[in-house]
Amino acid sequence: MRIESDPKLDFKDVLIRPKRSTLGSRSEVDIKRHFDFKWSGQSFDGVPIMAANMDGVGTLSMARAFHKQGDGLGVCLTKHYSVDQLVDFFTSDAADSAWYSVGIAERDMEKLEAVLKKLPSENINKLCIDVANGYSERFGDFLKTMREKYPNKTIMAGNVVTGEMTEELILCGADIVKVGIGPGSVCTTRKMTGVGYPQLSATIECADAAHGLGGLVCADGGCTVPGDIAKAFGAGADFVMLGGMLAGHDQCEGEIVATETGQKFCTFYGMSSDTAMERHSGGVAEYRASEGKTVRVRHRGDVNDRTMQDILGGLRSTCTYVGATQLKELSKRTTFIMVGQQINNVFGES
Ligand code: 5GP
Repeated sequence: MRIESDPKLDFKDVLIRPKRSTLGSRSEVDIKRHFDFKWSGQSFDGVPIMAANMDGVGTLSMARAFHKQGDGLGVCLTKHYSVDQLVDFFTSDAADSAWYSVGIAERDMEKLEAVLKKLPSENINKLCIDVANGYSERFGDFLKTMREKYPNKTIMAGNVVTGEMTEELILCGADIVKVGIGPGSVCTTRKMTGVGYPQLSATIECADAAHGLGGLVCADGGCTVPGDIAKAFGAGADFVMLGGMLAGHDQCEGEIVATETGQKFCTFYGMSSDTAMERHSGGVAEYRASEGKTVRVRHRGDVNDRTMQDILGGLRSTCTYVGATQLKELSKRTTFIMVGQQINNVFGES
């Protein structure tokens, strides 16, 4: 047994220190980024924020809404659409905003191949290989096979939280490594298993490792307000993935229920929750426990109205506070200051 004693930080443990700035207005800030991917040879231009592949969030409707919004926002589609639905979607204009999610089970590969057979292959050029625990040897082997099979597709793979595993996944063929174990709003992994890593530190450490090899990271989970997204970019994230912050909109493709007082709510749940497993796998398998919960979230209308405006406006404003004219400069211009409980922990106060 070993104990690592240097402090690891979450979004709530820090604030970003303001810096002298020559920017006159937040409208002068460019929050789009350009990336050339290490392996696929493809590139990305847009606002590097994406919706998680969760029911109610990673929906075809969300992808259509983001396509309409026009800033290059992405959606990682859930794994549960049928072949016909996917073929239909990936032949539409909105396809450019979507990532095709695939697990490492044989049936996931069979479905991907079935979809690709019915389309020109380049219609799907972004894959997200996604498992809860990216540390298994089987996952690395699967990633290598996918890279050999699809040399020109951009591959995002995860999730991991440490620098050495980020490097490993990049060397196995990932263009982007997805970072986060346990920070999700409807995730109970830390409670059920005791495993996890504070998300700000995970992002800093994994981004550092990835950038050293010409790879990128996507900080996945734990953002609850626009300021957390800015902190993730400040920590070095190239992309940020959102679940809970995008739940409860018209695009959720789920039931919207009104109470007697007229308030409207939607159900939102983790993809390892009882609700998800009952819906997609006929229940929780005997050998495993659920690692997600089910919550009720307020219905918030169209995602492109208030929600995206708050997120993108918040990010532009952060950039003006630290004098970054482009999102690209945010990380270089970020100094985090530790706040509250974390300072007490570090300096040994009660
Ligand atoms: P959020 O933005 O809601 O904080 O986090 C979204 C992320 O939580 C997802 O992208 C995914 O990585 C993670 N997640 C989603 N469902 C579950 C779940 O049931 N259990 C766990 N451990 N993580 C989940």
